[in-house]
Amino acid sequence: MAYELGRRGLEVCVLERRDVGLGATQASAGMLAPFIEAEHAGPLWRLGIRGLELYDQFVADVVGDSGDPVPYGRCGTIEVATDALSLARLERSASELAAAGVACRLVSGAQAIADEPHLSQQVSSALLIPSHGFVGAGPLTAALRRAAVRVGVSFRSRCTVSRLGPTPEGIEVQTDGGPRLSDVVVLAAGSWNDQVGIEDGAPPRVKPVRGQLLQLRWPAGPPLTKVVWSSGCYVVPWPDGTTLVGATVEDVGFDERATVAGVNGLLDAAREVLPVTTRAEFEGVRVGLRPGTGDDLPIIGWSHAVPKLLYATGHYRNGVLLAPLTARLVADLVLDASPDPILDTLAPGRFEAAATPLTGASVVGSDTSSVAE
Ligand SMILES: Cc1cc2nc3c(=O)[nH]c(=O)nc-3n(C[C@H](O)[C@H](O)[C@H](O)COP(=O)(O)OP(=O)(O)OC[C@H]3O[C@@H](n4cnc5c(N)ncnc54)[C@H](O)[C@@H]3O)c2cc1C
Repeated sequence: MAYELGRRGLEVCVLERRDVGLGATQASAGMLAPFIEAEHAGPLWRLGIRGLELYDQFVADVVGDSGDPVPYGRCGTIEVATDALSLARLERSASELAAAGVACRLVSGAQAIADEPHLSQQVSSALLIPSHGFVGAGPLTAALRRAAVRVGVSFRSRCTVSRLGPTPEGIEVQTDGGPRLSDVVVLAAGSWNDQVGIEDGAPPRVKPVRGQLLQLRWPAGPPLTKVVWSSGCYVVPWPDGTTLVGATVEDVGFDERATVAGVNGLLDAAREVLPVTTRAEFEGVRVGLRPGTGDDLPIIGWSHAVPKLLYATGHYRNGVLLAPLTARLVADLVLDASPDPILDTLAPGRFEAAATPLTGASVVGSDTSSVAE
């Protein structure tokens, strides 16, 4: 968002209590898979499709403006079935996708294994969706930061925002480094959104949902070419010879610790779909708190309690996929462009009422979805 706002000529300062990208985003698998993540034809499905459509240009712009390489590929997903229940689900998805004109192929277990030889012999069927892909969330965040600086954005790390309140001159932003004044504030503090005090109102409810993700290294290179998705885990092949295996979904509050149970569960699930997993090297585990909402949809829109306060949070499992779209929606709102109808389903209004736009901006919280976007 900061990058997009900066490109549109606004003076932007990002306030981040850690360093850029060290929230949920550092743990993200970076998958771009709207047709698996979202219920058919629902609001998240429509959001995901729009997010994916923007990705090629978004990555090209960021790489162009930063000069940094970003791992990005539209390698497709292969979602596998190993029992009757998952097969029925794949068949339903395949017919819904075909009806929606989305390119996909339902293949037999033998064809899936011919395509990805390391898949388990238990695979009885698979759904291929070629438009899906992945992006390196960490390198993308670093490149976004560099690109944002080049369009005039400033960053204040280790700066915690405690309170936001309206004044006649704009919004007063209370930080541990003293107060600041801003024409507009975009609050994108992820799972910690509720911890920022809002004068005369309460921020919409965002809840932390822990996710643990493993990184495995394969000396001979990843044993697959596409993102594999099973009922127990997903496996993302990376160009650097590693794979990401994710992810747990845990309701444990603000606990960002990795657990043996989490790691074990993911290794078991990976072994089930890719038996060669036993030969991989264990590179590490990452943990992040996904910002969840009551309806699994992000919250993007104006606060009714504090004029000039814009929320952009609650991206739950799809913050990386929705980064370019969120950046565009937020910049359009700040610059008073005609609001996109999709915002009706995302408005804090479902938790709160909306307000009027203006010119300069500060962004609280920093990473792909909050910086871009
Ligand atoms: C294991 C895992 C796998 C995932 N895989 C995918 C995937 O494949 N594809 C996908 O699209 N998404 C994925 N996600 C989801 C995605 O990572 C999140 O939706 C996204 O990162 C959320 O971004 P955010 O900016 O809202 O939150 P965060 O990344 O958490 O950023 C919020 C920032 O705000 C800062 N902050 C908080 N409070 C304050 C304050 N008071 N003052 C200043 N700064 C503050 C925090 O330090 C943090 O840096 C995954 C998440 C996890 C955990």
